Amino acid sequence: PLATASADVARLIRWADDFPEPGVRFADLTPVFADADAFRDVIDALVSVGAGADLIAGIDARGFLLGAGVARSLGAGVLAVRKAGKLPPPVLGRSYDLEYGTATLEIPADGIDLHGRRVLVIDDVLATGGTLGAATELLEAAGATVVGVAVVLEITALGGRARVAGHPVTSLLTI
Ligand code: AMP
Repeated sequence: PLATASADVARLIRWADDFPEPGVRFADLTPVFADADAFRDVIDALVSVGAGADLIAGIDARGFLLGAGVARSLGAGVLAVRKAGKLPPPVLGRSYDLEYGTATLEIPADGIDLHGRRVLVIDDVLATGGTLGAATELLEAAGATVVGVAVVLEITALGGRARVAGHPVTSLLTI
């Protein structure tokens, strides 16, 4: 879906070896977001994936930037899926395993009725899939219908796609 822009977007990614820990090759998309053409092309490509969604769930924190842009262009709402401890109670949470320890994602338990909402879940990078797997489970537990998952970059060697099984996964770029 990125078509002609993909080479430019890929070129803007800032790679860092052994960050945040040894053995991880980190893809920093900061320069992609800061480039007007690349940001627009990425948002437009994600919008085409999201047709039919009425709510965009952006994952803390880079997914917020993408999610808000996509939601505005699509005419959908945006839901920030937060890391634990950021939202006042009551919250719904879902924990998942990291390489060392666990992490938790949270959404408000009241104030938003997710039943009948058609949600596209967006993040910047799909790595092991733990984050997006937990996010989709959390949203479904809250009553939402997850219509898809979309990321800018998928690191295919980590097999993360399998952990969001049952949902269409779209990646604009793969490595
Ligand atoms: P995972 O749960 O392993 O799929 O990791 C996905 C989350 O961690 C996303 O929110 C990414 O922003 C971040 N992340 C994990 N690995 C990387 C990486 N190699 N480069 C950039 N971001 C990463």
